[in-house]
Amino acid sequence: MLDFARMHTQAFNDQYAYQGPLGMCYSPDHTTFRLWSPTASRVQVSLGQGQKWLLDLQADSQHPGLWFLDLQGNFYLHDYNYLLTFPDGSVHETPDPYAVAARANGKPSVILDPLAISPPGWSEEDWPAPLDQGRLAICEIHIRDLTIGPDNGIFHKGKFLGLTEPDTQTDQGHLSGLAYLKSLGVSHIQLMPCFDFASVDEAGDLSFNAQYNWGYDPENYNVVEGSYASQPDDPSCRILEFKTLVQTLHQAGFQVIMDVVYNHVYKLEESPLHLTVPGYYFRVQDNGVFYDGTGCGNETASEQIMFRKYMIDSLCYWAQTYHIDGFRFDLMGIHDVETMQAVRQALEAINPHILLLGEGWQMGHHPSGVLGANQSQAKKLPGFRFFNDQMRDALRGSNFGHQAKGWINGDTSLEKTQQVYHNILGQPDHGSYLDASQSVIYTECHDNATLYDKLVQTLPGISQEEAVKRQALALSIQCFSFGTLFFHAGQEMMRTKGGDSNSYQSPDSINALDYDRAGQYPALGQLFRRLLEMRSAMGVFSLTSYQEIAQAVELYRLEEGCIAYKLKYGGQVYLVAQNACTSPWQLDLPAGEWQPLLTQWTLPEEPGQAFSPVRDQLAVEGLESILVQQIA
Ligand code: CA
Repeated sequence: MLDFARMHTQAFNDQYAYQGPLGMCYSPDHTTFRLWSPTASRVQVSLGQGQKWLLDLQADSQHPGLWFLDLQGNFYLHDYNYLLTFPDGSVHETPDPYAVAARANGKPSVILDPLAISPPGWSEEDWPAPLDQGRLAICEIHIRDLTIGPDNGIFHKGKFLGLTEPDTQTDQGHLSGLAYLKSLGVSHIQLMPCFDFASVDEAGDLSFNAQYNWGYDPENYNVVEGSYASQPDDPSCRILEFKTLVQTLHQAGFQVIMDVVYNHVYKLEESPLHLTVPGYYFRVQDNGVFYDGTGCGNETASEQIMFRKYMIDSLCYWAQTYHIDGFRFDLMGIHDVETMQAVRQALEAINPHILLLGEGWQMGHHPSGVLGANQSQAKKLPGFRFFNDQMRDALRGSNFGHQAKGWINGDTSLEKTQQVYHNILGQPDHGSYLDASQSVIYTECHDNATLYDKLVQTLPGISQEEAVKRQALALSIQCFSFGTLFFHAGQEMMRTKGGDSNSYQSPDSINALDYDRAGQYPALGQLFRRLLEMRSAMGVFSLTSYQEIAQAVELYRLEEGCIAYKLKYGGQVYLVAQNACTSPWQLDLPAGEWQPLLTQWTLPEEPGQAFSPVRDQLAVEGLESILVQQIA
């Protein structure tokens, strides 16, 4: 067998790289199998239900490394695995790395045509129209979190179908599931992993509190996760039910983003990629030990031509087959710039408005000369949006250490205030972004403590009233910032995980969304919806270029803990005042009369009803955010 180092050379890639189709392709009269393995000496497919056939694939003389079999007959719903024999005599049995269907728990692979399994009306779906940047707001959800709760009124607990049920509500009468999502006013639903992950036993007990995982442990990249299907052992069921969910979300007006995790696999030694071409797809040290830049035991090598192709094939498959409108790349910094550029090009050929965002952390063991797809390379990655950790940390404090505070929870220093303002403009101090759209504005996601839990950790003894004010201030700063809005489901109702800062395998009792908190914090939910409406209506937040933003925004006052800025757009002049101090702020207004549109605590009782206009001075309460518009 070739040694691992040689497999990571240009020469190896040049000799064996193959750009044609791979995987299984079914039709009623024949099925083709294509597998890439330049290091195997024999490849067979083990096929059948009960009785197994073992059939040889032929080495393709035109494409070294490609193995091929065209099998006459109808093999619909037959199981299959590959058996690869290597020159040292070792034999690997593995599912197809390109599998599109599987039995419960991801193996074996199954023969079917995923394009033929669709809900009514699926083929008539159009790609959504492009969305204005000022209207764009992403809400991150986990299928199980939103559906598993015992009293949420949802029938399909923990299932894709649970989010297709209309008009559900909790026993206490609060909106749940799809109705809850529709009430938020967000534009995009980001689904935490829905590809087949390994850590939940699909054949086991899936009832409340029985098992849980976020799903960042990929098993089959092109198979839908089985635990979210009503029948995990029926390979067609999960395909149909996931498409039904996507279709339902589209019909509700949402675009759908899938969270994808190509940076590592669950277990290297069990990965179909590693079993078919050992050593090729993962970064490896000269001594043969695999790198672990992800903290998950391995890191993939996107600079390897056939892993780059694998990622692109997989993403295009999800976009085309499941009508996915965007992708969120887990630990995107592990990948490389050239691959992500190619990813965007391939996806835009399918949908010119595809939305791409990722965790651009500096990490991974890229070979010399290979640029990591991290934030510092953002200018080389137009079309990608990056989780803006500087703004997150400036607002809520670092995730390292429970005591670290940010602007909205106690650090109102001038330095922090200035940093917050730069990020309001979509321009973090590292200056790495091309424009403001690349700044993903967030104060909470599935990782780390929820914002509410962070407030409780950093401000021991904080009252509920003060916590709501600080949470509202965070939402308001997000909504009046330039960039790409991102929220964690439940953020607008003070979501708590009881202080659990890494709930990836914590029980449902920690992770499930408690919809009844909406009843405890109705004003916060109302404020959230109004903020999104206002942001969209103002128009100015559709700007992304720094030049245009500089022309539209004027800093009016900045002092420790207080920021006021004017927004001039479409013939209107607005002023936003943010006060992160607990004491009131008397702000001298510019000349003229100003109409308050939105304050944090007082909303007009009736639609159309307005606050009284103000002039000369604006009284900003402690921990308050106010938006006023010039009327004379
Ligand atoms: Ca699974």
